[in-house]
Amino acid sequence: MTSRYEQIQQELLANPRKWLVTGCAGFIGSNLTETLLRLNQTVVGLDNFATGYQHNLDEVQTSLDAAQWARFTFIEGDIRQPETCARAATGVDYILHQAALGSVPRSIADPVTTNGVNISGFLNMLVAARDAKVSAFVFAASSSTYGDHPALPKVEDQIGKPLSPYAVTKYVNELYADVFARTYGLGSVGLRYFNVFGKRQDPDGAYAAVIPKWIAAMIRGDDVQINGDGETSRDFCFVENAVQANLLAATASSEGLNQVYNVAVSARTSLNILFEQLASILAKHEIQYGKSPVYRDFRAGDVRHSQADISKAQKLLGYAPTHTIAQGLEVAMPWYVKFLK
Ligand code: NAD
Repeated sequence: MTSRYEQIQQELLANPRKWLVTGCAGFIGSNLTETLLRLNQTVVGLDNFATGYQHNLDEVQTSLDAAQWARFTFIEGDIRQPETCARAATGVDYILHQAALGSVPRSIADPVTTNGVNISGFLNMLVAARDAKVSAFVFAASSSTYGDHPALPKVEDQIGKPLSPYAVTKYVNELYADVFARTYGLGSVGLRYFNVFGKRQDPDGAYAAVIPKWIAAMIRGDDVQINGDGETSRDFCFVENAVQANLLAATASSEGLNQVYNVAVSARTSLNILFEQLASILAKHEIQYGKSPVYRDFRAGDVRHSQADISKAQKLLGYAPTHTIAQGLEVAMPWYVKFLK
């Protein structure tokens, strides 16, 4: 039986649409842009290169044929500027809003800037989506919204108190999207990503995510640092699963719209197991990492365990993740080896 994702891809190929991807020069945004262009869609990308890179866009270009790349228009701009958002959204069918300042520690160090981009910028995008009368506004929400709620696995309607300024911003996004649905009839979907990983996720900088940071440390022979005892666990989600969720959400039925969904695999991997997995996959690429991890203090604002119940997305969106963490790491690793060596 063909999956809903396969059906949607066939429909989009037969009847191409116009998409706006904000944060297109970042990790998830560049993967979305690549998939959409490969499906012969017209894509407008908006980014201010705060944490994204021109080299991500260059890589998307080289992975496509000239006709596909010709359907891409890039706007360098900031979502904190309402006019920029309005210009980017004009004539667009679907918006995939990824632009934001990620990272819990970044938001603890500078809550004001995170708030400005993730809340004011988000609101600008909602207004632009409403005014452009888009068919759907899909946005990057976050598993951090579960905060201090102890239940596992996480179910969408049971959330706790946010544990960081970042988590506050992502929860406010959901509240604003809900209010825009009620007051203006804007159709939106929030995708609560759980630790997404894959090619083009930035391995460098103070706020790098754990998987690319550790791969880089292992390839370079540096220490791998584990915050806490290593038994902290996450539901690591390969980026292709997140891309799938975005396309399914944008094209959701009316029943599927104006909802938030967990986007993950519904598995839990501890940091200690992740360390071993990464070292063993790197060994297949003839990179031997002989060091033991260095344990340090737990990090402020971090949730101890995270695992998603994905049945809501399965039921209402037809979401069916194609990659486990192990399969995703196998696919992603050659990119890191090539990029970092
Ligand atoms: P990323 O940093 O690689 O991408 C974010 C992109 O947004 C960057 O290209 C950046 O330059 C751009 N951007 C930032 N501020 C902007 C502004 N003011 N105007 C225009 N563009 C701006 O991060 P990512 O991992 O690809 O995350 C994408 C989205 O998913 C974010 O909203 C993030 O909060 C959310 N998210 C990610 C994860 C994950 O595991 N990666 C988990 C939960 C939620």
